[in-house]
Parts: sequence; structure tokens; C-alpha cells
Amino acid sequence: MKNIHMMLGGLILFGFTACQTPKVATENQSNTKSYHNVQADGKIYSAFYQQHAAEYQALSQQAFNIAKFRLDEAISKKGDKPLAIVTDIDETFLDNSYYAVEMAKQGKMWTQESWSNWTAKGVATPLAGSLDFFNYAASKGVNIFYVTNRFNEERAGTLANLKKYNYPLQGDDHLILRSKESSKENRRQDIAKNFDIVLLLGDSLTDFSSLFDNHKSEKERAAAVETLKAEFGKRFIVLPNVGYGDWESAMFNYKYDLTQDQRDSIIYNAAKDMPSKK
Ligand SMILES: [Mg+2]
Repeated sequence: MKNIHMMLGGLILFGFTACQTPKVATENQSNTKSYHNVQADGKIYSAFYQQHAAEYQALSQQAFNIAKFRLDEAISKKGDKPLAIVTDIDETFLDNSYYAVEMAKQGKMWTQESWSNWTAKGVATPLAGSLDFFNYAASKGVNIFYVTNRFNEERAGTLANLKKYNYPLQGDDHLILRSKESSKENRRQDIAKNFDIVLLLGDSLTDFSSLFDNHKSEKERAAAVETLKAEFGKRFIVLPNVGYGDWESAMFNYKYDLTQDQRDSIIYNAAKDMPSKK
């Protein structure tokens, strides 16, 4: 009987120890740590949040409520130039989390080809509050410019997606895709020649200002946010995106040829331990 108890105790202890081993960190034979699936699993988790958390829905609604408030202010102070809103598309008002799930489940990372196949379908879904906001702005005669880094080749699917949900399109020239550079600064300046840009909406900081262009480091990005802090919630309306973005590229030093292990290791090591008590 005593032996059975000892055996059971040993099994329970073994089971507990096995469960406590972090899935992400394993020792290989050369005694260096390798990390598995941190990024891929992270993309499932961020999509899980995006698709199911009412908090995400509320954050999006909050962003568009503030945008409407700021737009009404701008309309009341309107000058000679016609008013314009410059908005990004992906994860600013269209939800592409389905693509992230598909890729992560296949163990694949983003590629232009798979992304273009996804955008060609034109079935990304509206984020909370966005349809009401853009249709309200259009009803007030405000010009809405969709400034996206989707490529020109993705125009048909993008237009189909906007039409599917009745986002206002006030002319073909109001959908401005990427031709060469990823920076949106020249495109914003072109619009500003004829319009008063009263609001910018985006999920990546490069959607707002050239201060974030040219592969800024994590520190430089934080410093630029500090410089522009008065603009957030005023002229800049930011939507949350935990799944991807410039913040992620900055952590990888804008190197797009890293192996999955290298990316996982960077994430795992950058995650901060508890501050010491002093
Ligand atoms: Mg975006």
C-alpha cells in the first residue's frame, strides 16, 4: 500500500513538473535556448482577442466616438479649404484577423502573395463604429481619403470590400494605394495641397507623421510619441493592433529575413522581468 502511495506521489510529482516546463523554452544539446511558436501562437492569441473581446469592440467604438467629436469641432471652425479625413484601412477599420489565423494555423508567416490572395477576396469585416463614422463624415461633405499600403494590384479587392459594407467612396482618387514607397508622407502632402486634413486615423504610427518613417528604433518611436503627445485623441486617432505593425518590425530591427527561431528568441528575451523592489 505504501509503495502504491509512493508510486502515485511520484507520478503526480512528475506530471506537475512536466506541466510547469514552459512550452516556449527548451534546452537543446548545445545548451542554448531555442523558443518555439512565440510569434505564431501570439498571432493566434491576438486574433482571438480581436475576434472575441468586447473590450476590443469598445476600444474601436471609443476611437470613432472621439473621431466624431473632433470632426464636429473641425466642421464648426471650417475655413476656405474643403475638409478631409485621411484614414488607413487595415486594422484601422477593416478586421483582417482571419488572415492571421489562417497563416498561423499553417505555421506560415506573412507573405505578399498570401496577403494579396486574402485582400482579393474583399471580405475583411468592419470594426465597431467605423461605418457610422465614415458615413456621418461623408454626409457632412467631408472628404474621406483611404491612404493604405495595400499595393495598386490590390485595388479591385479593396474596392469590393469597401462596397460590400457601404463605406463611402467619393471618387476613385479617394482610394490611394501604395505605388513605391511605404511612407505615407508624400501622399498626405498631396492631399494637403487642396484639402484641410482635420483628422488622421490609423493603427500604425507611420499612419500619422513622418517622424515615425525610415525604420525608427523602439526608443526613437517612443520619443516621437512624446513629441506628438498632444495630437493623440485630437487630430490623430489611434486604433489598437496587437497582431502586427511597425512596433513589431522595430523590435526585429526591420529585418525581414529572420528565421522563426530568431524572431521567437528576440520576443522572449525582450519581454521584461519584474522590476526589483527598491
Ligand atoms: Mg493598418
